[in-house]
Amino acid sequence: MPLITGKTQLLGVIGYPVSHSLSPIMQNAALQAMGLDICYVAFPIVPRDLPQAIAGLWSSGIQGLNITIPHKQTVMDELIHLTAIAQQVGAVNTLWRGDTGWQGTNTDVFGFMAPLRHQNRDWSTIIPVVLGNGGAARAVVAGCEQLGCPEAVVVGRSSEKLAQFQRQWEQGAHKILVNIQQWDTSLTSVLSQTQLLVNTTPIGMGHQADYSPIAQDSIRQLPPTAIVYDLIYTPRPTLLLKQAQAHGLVTIDGTEMLIQQGAAALHQWVKKEIPIPIMRDVLLDFLSRNGR
Ligand code: NAP
Repeated sequence: MPLITGKTQLLGVIGYPVSHSLSPIMQNAALQAMGLDICYVAFPIVPRDLPQAIAGLWSSGIQGLNITIPHKQTVMDELIHLTAIAQQVGAVNTLWRGDTGWQGTNTDVFGFMAPLRHQNRDWSTIIPVVLGNGGAARAVVAGCEQLGCPEAVVVGRSSEKLAQFQRQWEQGAHKILVNIQQWDTSLTSVLSQTQLLVNTTPIGMGHQADYSPIAQDSIRQLPPTAIVYDLIYTPRPTLLLKQAQAHGLVTIDGTEMLIQQGAAALHQWVKKEIPIPIMRDVLLDFLSRNGR
């Protein structure tokens, strides 16, 4: 436990609930390794209290904040500046102090892309299939755009939410085209042609750990060189990734995205080289010791 003094500075994460957040573990390990007199804590903030909490945290002098569910979109109303990527995604996960108020960005996009950058692919020929149309799906599509994919197929269960996703996407200045597809139709045609399948739904997590968003038969439709990327990081691997591994496909779980979005946020706050291996070790050790 580092010595907390009157000079110790504060960083934190707000969400509701937030006690499950793994960010304090990763961020405090990195802060200690860097020898910084900064402590990172979690604040449970109920949605109706968000404006006063954001203002109060500003007055308290806290140096920066991560934002998690359910505040990633609503917090945007409380900021004086948004980066282009946060505007594109329509969600914010990192705040830092500007001269007169909080500024915000979205590091989930960078985190999502980080493990894909190690894959030697011609992204300009790849049309990813994204399962789910929530907040993470928006970051994923923005990441695919940055990689250079020309188009993405977004698969959802609600035609209304899918249409809204597409409409909002088309309102922005985007290079990537979004096609939407209803979940209950066969995914065979899109799966057989994609080199990247991304799960952004919670199917496979927590009480849904015995479920996969895709049937084993459908996994077999994917080309043998396809990547299957599940944003879920507990359990590791998810049933979807086990199915993909059984079929010999490349798999990526959500841990690296979690680490890299956190490292990008920490860099935004402290402007120093971030000890990413330490964040990775402490996170993987915690997950394995806690049976997740
Ligand atoms: P969200 O905004 O609530 O979106 C979840 C999406 O999943 C929605 O489109 C929802 O559909 C869909 N969905 C939920 N249950 C479904 C079901 N049974 N069948 C079909 N679709 C279903 O949540 P989010 O913020 O995007 O997060 C989604 C997942 O990504 C979570 O598991 C989260 O842990 C993970 N994530 C990981 C990282 C990381 O760093 N690794 C970062 C962010 C998120 P409806 O809209 O129709 O309800």
